[in-house]
Amino acid sequence: MERKERKENGYCGLYCGACPVFMKTQNGQIEQLAAELGTPVVEVACFGCKSNQVAKWCRDDCPIKKCSQEKGHDYCIECDDYLCKDLMEFRDDPRYPYHTEIEAYLDQIRKEGTESWLNFMKIRWSCKNCHTPYDWFQQTCNRCGAAVAGYHKPES
Ligand SMILES: [Zn+2]
Repeated sequence: MERKERKENGYCGLYCGACPVFMKTQNGQIEQLAAELGTPVVEVACFGCKSNQVAKWCRDDCPIKKCSQEKGHDYCIECDDYLCKDLMEFRDDPRYPYHTEIEAYLDQIRKEGTESWLNFMKIRWSCKNCHTPYDWFQQTCNRCGAAVAGYHKPES
């Protein structure tokens, strides 16, 4: 996969840097994931929500992104309708428990700006012990095995 510019800040306030698909794209495991899913790599590989190579489901299927783009917003907080019903449903979707943090993230982006928030996110989503990044669903660090603050995957 050709390298592209990473954009780790979602319109909704999610941090793409802790997405397992984004992380696999960065560390060379995306071909394997695409094979497991039986999907072409170009439909899976992702450099973040606002990059020019986004996984299909976040490229085509996200109503939050579609709405923000139509309104010309960088983040939902710029919207007169914030916090709208659609975003509340997104935040509270039990399939994606890490979405519960978006309101705090958007608040932080509003107060401190994107760069400061991204720096905070790198720390939030890295092992406190060895500083290795972990994804939304990890309970322990891949490198040192320490407990990390990911979310449990909901029962499907
Ligand atoms: Zn660690």
